[in-house]
Amino acid sequence: MAGNPKRALWFKILTITGSGTGGLFLGLWAMKSNLLGNFSHISPATFGGIVAGLCALAAAIAAMSFFAGVDESEEYVYRETRIDKLTGFPSRLAMIGKISDAIGAVKRTGEPVFMIDIDIDRFKHINDAIGYQHGDELILEFGKRLKANAPRGTTIGRMGAGEFVVLVPDSALEGSLDMLVEQLLEEMARPYQLTSHSQSVNISVGIVAMPKDGDDPIVLLRRSNLALQRARASGLGTWSVFHPEMSRVADYRQWIESELGAALERGDFDLHYQPQFDLLSGKLVGYEALLRWRHPERGMIPPSEFIPVAEESGIICELGEWVLRRGCRDASRLPDDTYVAINLSPTQFMNGDLIAMVKSALADARLKPERLELEITETAMTLDRDKAARILRELSDMGVSIAIDDFGTGYSNLSYLMDFTFKKLKIDRSFVSRLEHDSSTGAVVSTIVGLSRALGAHTLAEGVETESQAVLLKAAGCDVVQGFYYGKPQPLDPSAYRNVPVKQVAVH
Ligand code: C2E
Ligand code: MG
Ligand code: MG
Repeated sequence: MAGNPKRALWFKILTITGSGTGGLFLGLWAMKSNLLGNFSHISPATFGGIVAGLCALAAAIAAMSFFAGVDESEEYVYRETRIDKLTGFPSRLAMIGKISDAIGAVKRTGEPVFMIDIDIDRFKHINDAIGYQHGDELILEFGKRLKANAPRGTTIGRMGAGEFVVLVPDSALEGSLDMLVEQLLEEMARPYQLTSHSQSVNISVGIVAMPKDGDDPIVLLRRSNLALQRARASGLGTWSVFHPEMSRVADYRQWIESELGAALERGDFDLHYQPQFDLLSGKLVGYEALLRWRHPERGMIPPSEFIPVAEESGIICELGEWVLRRGCRDASRLPDDTYVAINLSPTQFMNGDLIAMVKSALADARLKPERLELEITETAMTLDRDKAARILRELSDMGVSIAIDDFGTGYSNLSYLMDFTFKKLKIDRSFVSRLEHDSSTGAVVSTIVGLSRALGAHTLAEGVETESQAVLLKAAGCDVVQGFYYGKPQPLDPSAYRNVPVKQVAVH
């Protein structure tokens, strides 16, 4: 445990006692030698010299004391910043230095060094759930077990709350790297006996090799973390070795994030519209607005690539408002008896004043609320159930209709459906594409249709690509269809789609 940088009590007592005793002995010696009586024989210059000498001695003691204090403070700062208090391992800062040293050694000797990044999945959640005291206990036990299982000659550091790094020189490997990692994963994932309970954890591991994967500690740490994230995404309790492709994906995401703001200002975005048809009558009932990004240099960038980034960065609210206003304006150029369906992101749905924004977009475009449909995913609604229910009710009261998008891909918790006001369930494309080959999917679709009807809503099937899918959907009782079979999304062109002939959607 690090000391206090202020002088320690023992040091103060020793200094005071030492100086006091020293002073006393000096006085006694002076009296015994009748030094003071002899002062008359000493010339003023010699007397001055003695006084100056004593002053110099006092100054030297003071300086020694000061520098001892500085040393002590330096050690304190070193311990505070370089050593993790809980585990005693080098801290993140110290590990960066050690990785740098390892890079230097690799360059000198040519012997590779592996960096194993080990992370306890969702440690923050575990910490919140079991309390910080037990969280600390878990980290302590984890650190001990890691030390016991790491080969000799390795360096272990604590990089973050639940994250550790092990530096393994090639010569420290007893078998292969794969064997070591597998063994570490197995050992580290065994439950931890804490004072209150036995705690299970999942571990993810990312690995980089020096010099192959870089010669800068920060770059190496970033890369081991990318590998770790890949491992985590591919399933619980796995490991992954860094591959340059991972950097490319991360760089691309970063590029998208940095470009989104400029793209909005430049006017790169546009809306394409995909028609929706009533399955019984073949009547064109509405259009889904789908966002398109045409970058001046990179061309079209699909929504699946930029919407999640826009969500994470928060720019989705600005982008979503642009879509809403533009969609409402475009609707006035489309047939009066059709609606425009706009996708709302979860962040947009829960943040800010959505109701005020919708009202203002409708008013500016002079659009009747009945001609606007908002598509929201299940995930968006489960974030805060009460708030979601309130917003949905307000929108419905205004006359705006609500469609639940991608139904069947989220939690599909049926009980929440009863609390929510909505007009339509959009059956996800994954069900539609399985219809022709998997007979049980037809039964599932029929069940969704029945459920939807029981709740007073309609069903729309997304991603209809073939006639036989349309036939099966009709048999299942689906109301509305949308998909490439009927029309692909395309730029706004009010005359592009007409009602489809009824025979095209009839049961044969
Ligand atoms: P979504 O809302 O489920 O939209 C349907 C997606 O399926 C669209 O992809 C559409 O082009 C595609 N699609 C339609 N019919 C077919 C078909 O027959 N076969 C196949 N394979 N695909 C079909 P897109 O335009 O790439 O959009 C993907 C997702 O991006 C959308 O899924 C939606 O979640 C999101 N998105 C698009 N525009 C917006 C927007 O303005 N705001 C927000 N928040 N999300 C948007
Ligand atoms: Mg949609
Ligand atoms: Mg969908």
